[in-house]
Amino acid sequence: MSGKVAVISGSSRGIGAAIAQELSQRGVRIVLNFPTPSQRDECEAVGKTLSTEWIAVCADLTDDAGAAQLVQAAVSRFGHIDILVSNAGIVPLGPLWESNLDVFDNTMRLNTRGAYALVLAALPHLTPYTPPTGPRHQSGVIGGSRIIIVGSAASRNARAGQGAYAATKEALDAMLRVWARELPPRYGCTVNMVAPGPVLTQTFREHFATQEEWEVVQGLMSKETPVEGIAASPEDVAWAVAFLAEERSRFINGEYLCISGGSTMG
Ligand code: NAD
Repeated sequence: MSGKVAVISGSSRGIGAAIAQELSQRGVRIVLNFPTPSQRDECEAVGKTLSTEWIAVCADLTDDAGAAQLVQAAVSRFGHIDILVSNAGIVPLGPLWESNLDVFDNTMRLNTRGAYALVLAALPHLTPYTPPTGPRHQSGVIGGSRIIIVGSAASRNARAGQGAYAATKEALDAMLRVWARELPPRYGCTVNMVAPGPVLTQTFREHFATQEEWEVVQGLMSKETPVEGIAASPEDVAWAVAFLAEERSRFINGEYLCISGGSTMG
């Protein structure tokens, strides 16, 4: 993967930052993204942990111009995109009776519309398809770009409190199945989704205000998870993304890969 270029939306912390680190360790050049100037320092701190070339781009994916700004910055610096990871997202939790239409609209605007806009903006800049020839063809390894969407196990296994969030991820899930048919013949790419169950990011932890609440949730998660551990780490998700981004994953397309220790299954 050395020398490839990855754009990762929402990579100033959490899962996006872990994906950047995992891909960079494999030699990939990284385009980081954060939405507001106040998050520049946080994002640049992630950049400083990378071992390959990187830039950090301020672009709000809820803005109509945000996706194009991110893609343009990537192309100006590196010329093309090999790996596109649509990761930026918010995770509102709470029952319907505590919700309102702004919660629904804001979540849909970033998680679904933002991902749609990003993939759309990136298409003309994906690495051109190289027809398989010679030994690479014989070994079944060819080039081509990778689109990887960070969805959520909530899209197929939603829990109470995840109404708006699950809807945004289920819409992505529907687009995954369409794009995985529509895009590869024209763009030589694959399109896959990683679908994590709970991931122990700071944002996830902040949903549970008191230690007591947190202990109850940990107990529930532990009971529901067949493998040891209560939840995934950001690095567990990053590993799955890197696997899908590999050239040798060229024949994996349209997959929904759960990272939940078996607490949810696609
Ligand atoms: P996080 O809050 O730690 O990180 C989110 C990132 O998105 C940050 O870098 C933030 O700056 C960025 N972001 C926020 N609004 C943005 C905008 N308008 N434009 C561009 N970037 C923006 O969250 P996380 O837990 O790392 O979640 C990342 C992805 O993983 C999300 O799509 C989320 O739905 C998904 N996910 C998370 C969990 C979990 O338990 N944490 C589980 C399943 C799926």
